Amino acid sequence: MNKKFSAYNIKELGERPKWWRVRPEEINQQMQNLRRGQTEVLCQTAGDHPLWAVTYNAGEKIKQTVNWSAAGSSSKPDKFKTSGYERQTVVICAGLHGAEPEGVVAALNLISLMENGIDLRGIKHENLSVLLENYTVVIMPCVNMDGRSICPDHLRGATYEQFRTASQGMWNNGNYINWQESKEYFPLPLDEVAFPGGYPNSDGFNIMHDCAPGCLKTAEATAILSLNEHKQTDLFLNLHSCEASPVLLPPSQFNYGAHVERGNQLHRKLMQAFKSRKLINQGQQPWSPNSYVINLNTAVTMCSGALALTYESTVTDKWTFDQILEMHYILFETVLEDGLEKSFSPRSEIVKAKIKQGVAAE
Ligand SMILES: [Zn+2]
Repeated sequence: MNKKFSAYNIKELGERPKWWRVRPEEINQQMQNLRRGQTEVLCQTAGDHPLWAVTYNAGEKIKQTVNWSAAGSSSKPDKFKTSGYERQTVVICAGLHGAEPEGVVAALNLISLMENGIDLRGIKHENLSVLLENYTVVIMPCVNMDGRSICPDHLRGATYEQFRTASQGMWNNGNYINWQESKEYFPLPLDEVAFPGGYPNSDGFNIMHDCAPGCLKTAEATAILSLNEHKQTDLFLNLHSCEASPVLLPPSQFNYGAHVERGNQLHRKLMQAFKSRKLINQGQQPWSPNSYVINLNTAVTMCSGALALTYESTVTDKWTFDQILEMHYILFETVLEDGLEKSFSPRSEIVKAKIKQGVAAE
C-alpha cells in the first residue's frame, strides 16, 4: 500500500483563468467527451488514474515487420516505418512531472482545437489547425496524473522554496529536496519524505528516468515506449516546465548526430520566433548543449528512431497565462512547419549521417 500524501496548497498563489484546466478530474472530463479523436487509456497509473492518449488522423495501420534496432542496422532502415511518411507521426506528451502543468494546459487546448476548431479560450488558430492536419497527431495530455493530483494548479508567484517543494518534495526534517538530489534516488524513499513533490508517480519513480531496457519500473513509461514503437513516431515532443525562461532542448549527445543537429536547428528557429514576438529576453537560455544525459527521450529514439525533444516552458509569472499558452502554439507551429520541409526522422539518413563536431556550439 502506497503512503498517501495530501495535496500541497500554497495559499498566496493567485486564481487561474477558467481555461487553465489541469486537475485530474478536469482532464478526465475533457478526455471522456471527445468525438473526433480516437481515445485510449494506455494504463492505470500507480495511483490508479487513467493515462489518456488521443490520436487524430490515424491513417491505415499496417502490421509492423521489424523493430527499429534491427531495421536501423539493415540496408533498408525505412522498412521500420510501415505507415509511410505521407503523414508523419507527432507524439505530444505532457505532464510527466506533476508540478509542471503548463504543458497539460497546452495539450488540452490543442485537443480542443482539433476537436472544435477553437481552443478552451474560444480562440481559433487557423494556421496551426491547418498544419496539424498534415500529421498523425497523438496527444498524451497528462502522463503523471499521480503527481498532478497533489500539486497546485500553477506555481506563478511561488517562492523558490515552494517551487522546489512542489516539484521535488520535502524530507521529513522539513528541508526541501534539491533538483539534482532528487535524482540520487529511484524510487524516492517515500517513508523519508513529508511530501514527494510532483516529480515522481505514487510509487516514487520519476518517469522521465524510467528507461533501462528490461528493467522498467512504471506502467507509465512502459506505455509511452510501447506507444512510440507502435505508432512509429517521427517527432516526440515532451512538454515540461522549469523556473527559468522557455527553451526547446535538443537531444543529448547520446543520440544520432543528425537528430542532435536537427534539434539545434529547431532550438534556434524557436528562439528566433520568440524573439521576433518579443517573448524572450536575450542571452538567458539555461541550455547545456553538451549534455550526455540518458532519459525517456533517449529510449523513445531507441525504440522508434524518432527525433525526441523536450520543451521547457516556465512556471514563473514573468509571462501571462495567455503568453505561456501562445508560446506553446508558436512551438507547435515552428516545428510542424519545419517538418513539412524535411521529415523529422529520415531513418535511412540518420543512421548514416556523420556527427559534425561542434554542431551543438552556438
Ligand atoms: Zn520536468
